[in-house]
Amino acid sequence: RQRHGTDPCSFFHPEMAKQMQLEYELNTMFEDSIKKRDFQIYLQPKVRLADLTLSGAEALVRWIHPDKGMICPSDFIPLFEENGKICRLDLYVYETVCAYLHKRIEQQKDLFPISVNLSRAHFKDLNFLRKFSELKAKYGIPDGMIEFELTEYSFLDKQQREMVKNCIKQMHRLGFHCALDDFGVGYSALALLKDFDVDTIKLDRQFFVDMTNPKAQTIISGFIEISEKLGIHLVAEGIETKEQMELLKQFHCEMVQGYYFSKPLTIDEFEKWKDTMQKQ
Ligand code: C2E
Ligand code: CA
Ligand code: CA
Ligand code: CA
Repeated sequence: RQRHGTDPCSFFHPEMAKQMQLEYELNTMFEDSIKKRDFQIYLQPKVRLADLTLSGAEALVRWIHPDKGMICPSDFIPLFEENGKICRLDLYVYETVCAYLHKRIEQQKDLFPISVNLSRAHFKDLNFLRKFSELKAKYGIPDGMIEFELTEYSFLDKQQREMVKNCIKQMHRLGFHCALDDFGVGYSALALLKDFDVDTIKLDRQFFVDMTNPKAQTIISGFIEISEKLGIHLVAEGIETKEQMELLKQFHCEMVQGYYFSKPLTIDEFEKWKDTMQKQ
């Protein structure tokens, strides 16, 4: 007789066993994939609404596995956040971004700021920024070209708060910028702006899903106004339609990121996108 999910004794539900098997495989493959450079960065443009110029890009990791094909972050980031491998992966993504910017400098091409996601797991080790700043120097990356995106989770842990505050100070001293990612999904979003000195907030996609709703509009324009008054940059995330874009223009939203302009692209695709955009 088959046991199902509602049965408290079914520890090894087939789905769960499959999941454990997958996690086991991903963990085993990790080091090898780092060595073989099977992790690649995709870039998604951020666009200034006032003049539709490129304001920067976000680096998003993809795992291009020789047998399994492309594996998306949602399938491995949570797992690697749990077992700490995420710190190694974030550093890898960061170094890849540094190497890319370095190459552009050598080729005398223009630079644009790139943001890199940082898991909250980094804040367990006080010294993590040292490695980041050493690499910044090694690759000759100018100040202001790299921004770290932190989610609210990094700020929630009471014991970590002071440390995160100091980290942001140190990031600024070292020439990095700092963004608060997925802004507005948690409960303390506004309080965080008071206590943490971030340069940018990235307003979460969920606010724009139902943008015809007048209440949603009031909330969005409110956030935009607050960010302006605080002198913090704002990016609207997950913008997919012309309607969303037009409304955000009316609200004087500074920057947008989303499928409407472009999905995350390989570096080659991104450079082509950037060139056609600049010709327009
Ligand atoms: P995120 O940092 O909030 O990144 C934005 C996610 O939204 C990306 O998903 C992006 O592809 C997706 N997106 C962008 N525009 C649109 C849109 O218009 N509509 C919709 N529906 N989605 C859009 P992705 O690349 O699958 O990444 C998911 C999450 O995985 C990221 O969310 C981030 O939290 C995490 N992640 C990705 N790369 C890294 C990394 O290198 N390090 C760490 N720690 N986390 C990463
Ligand atoms: Ca992000
Ligand atoms: Ca986000
Ligand atoms: Ca997210």
